[in-house]
Amino acid sequence: MTRNYSGDILIVDDMPNNLRFLSTTLTEQGYKVRSVTEGLMALTVAQAAKPDLILLDIMMPNIDGYEVCQRLKANEQTCDIPVIFLSALDEVLDKVKAFSVGGVDYITKPFQLEEVLARIQTHLSLRAAQKEISQLNSELEQRVRQRTAQLEQEIAERLQVQERLLHLALHDVLTGLPNRTWFMKRLEQLLQQVSQKAGYLFAVLFLDCDRFQAVNDSLGHLVGDQLLVSISKRIELCVRPGTILCRLGGDEFAILLPDIEKNSDAIKIANDILRELAAPFQIGEYQVFTNVSIGIAIGSDIYKQPEHILRDADTAMYRAKANGKACYQVFEQTMHSRALHNFQLESELRHALERNELVAYYQPIISLDTNQISSFEALVRWNHPGKNLIAPNKFIPIAEETALVMAIDLFVLRQACQQLRNWRDEGVANESLTVSVNLSVKHFISFDLLKQIDNVLQEVGIDGSSLILEITESDIMENAEFAGKIISQLRDRHIQLSIDDFGTGYSSLSYLHRIPINHLKIDRSFVMRIGKNGKNTEIIKAIIALAKSLGMLTIAEGVETQDQLDQIRELKCDFCQGYFFSKPVEAVAARDLLITGFPQF
Ligand code: C2E
Ligand code: MG
Ligand code: MG
Repeated sequence: MTRNYSGDILIVDDMPNNLRFLSTTLTEQGYKVRSVTEGLMALTVAQAAKPDLILLDIMMPNIDGYEVCQRLKANEQTCDIPVIFLSALDEVLDKVKAFSVGGVDYITKPFQLEEVLARIQTHLSLRAAQKEISQLNSELEQRVRQRTAQLEQEIAERLQVQERLLHLALHDVLTGLPNRTWFMKRLEQLLQQVSQKAGYLFAVLFLDCDRFQAVNDSLGHLVGDQLLVSISKRIELCVRPGTILCRLGGDEFAILLPDIEKNSDAIKIANDILRELAAPFQIGEYQVFTNVSIGIAIGSDIYKQPEHILRDADTAMYRAKANGKACYQVFEQTMHSRALHNFQLESELRHALERNELVAYYQPIISLDTNQISSFEALVRWNHPGKNLIAPNKFIPIAEETALVMAIDLFVLRQACQQLRNWRDEGVANESLTVSVNLSVKHFISFDLLKQIDNVLQEVGIDGSSLILEITESDIMENAEFAGKIISQLRDRHIQLSIDDFGTGYSSLSYLHRIPINHLKIDRSFVMRIGKNGKNTEIIKAIIALAKSLGMLTIAEGVETQDQLDQIRELKCDFCQGYFFSKPVEAVAARDLLITGFPQF
């Protein structure tokens, strides 16, 4: 079925008869027809309103049909209008010329109407098809453009997600610092470069926050997190551009200092950090004191594995902790074996707890007023199978690095309270005898402490007033904020508190004034060097005066000689403890001391 394509046809012919005939016929056929008799006019009309087809006579005055067609084709607006030539010229050359100037067809006059109509239909349908194709093409192009834009956006989004994932994989969410993976990668790259550069030095600093666990346990994780962010910001202030600072995890940070000239470059940064962190942190309502222990490993081409240098910096960090924290330590090869030893000790200690190898020893504290034993200090010992009795200073500092110390303290607390109960039940101890138990600061500021003490006192059946807790001076001062709260709750239970090793820390006197402490234990180092008119006598005198003014009692630690005892007595110290009376002894021996007392003094 032939489709009838309607359209706008322009007829150009200088013969009015032809024009009229064609115009009438085509109009009858449903075409919209315009007609002109002259070439220039045809160009103007075609440009003004573009026809779908032009029937163009060749032989015309002024410009002929060829010229008209050429000009139509040369004009961008009209170039695509199909032109059918009408001519009485029937030479092949004429036809060839008609096609060469851009005509699509050629009808010879006098024409057959059917032929003219058929050709018009053919070209209009072709034109319609072309239009449709170009319409489809432009739609297709449009869709391709849209899809391309969409794809580009999807790719950009995917890249963004990938970048984000990569960032997450290599960074710590809390502080935004690079993480361990990133650090190890950089370290590995550096080691590769270093392998070709003899004499190149770099440093890895391993930083671990001191007492961070205590902050977390007592003030909660939110405060702990904020503290970590604040710490990381302060550390950042101390490092030069090109340095890599990362959070290894938990409360550990690491710094990679590439290209240093000498060890002291790394030490300088460690000192800057220690100084920067020494000022208190204000986290919400809390003022928190913390610092870091820093291990420094100096790297050169002798290191082949990134893990090895980090391990050495870590080992040095442990040494810094053992040396009193808030300090740095440069790695030395001998530390390696020591670290291994400590590691072994820690796991053995864990077993020791399970196998009940720990024992409480008791050392009497004597009242200089009544000459009676007023309390027994429980001091832990490790009865290691195959070794001699191990003293606490060999394992408590290691246990303090982990939660193990809390288990040890709790064990000694229970043992000592049970022992007191037994002595009372046997009738060898009166109701005023107390036991003194040492607590590590980690334990002291944990929320569990009060609950654990309540449980022990209840299980054993003794009153809070029979228990004295000893905390070292430096520990209590560094944790003043939380200590204050716990101390007032201990007071509610009538549990007494002694500050151990007094004189070795840096007590703030205003703080001492505010918290209810019962005893100051004057450190052995002062008692040991006591002498007539000596400087130490003056210090002890000052401590005793201070204690009296604050309503506290004093205990002299480490009294070994009659002379020391006499002087302590003269200075009006309230209690004393030391080898002069007895070394720490097992429960059976302590029981004997309770029965016999110290008649000789
Ligand atoms: P500390 O609480 O200051 O205990 C006194 C230390 O001085 C004890 O050492 C004791 O044996 C020793 N000592 C007492 N009188 C004399 C003396 O006249 N001369 C000399 N040279 N030393 C004397 P020990 O038992 O080795 O304990 C050392 C430290 O270990 C304790 O110091 C305490 O801080 C810690 N410790 C002991 N047991 C525990 C425990 O159960 N838990 C915790 N957290 N720490 C403990
Ligand atoms: Mg003590
Ligand atoms: Mg002491």
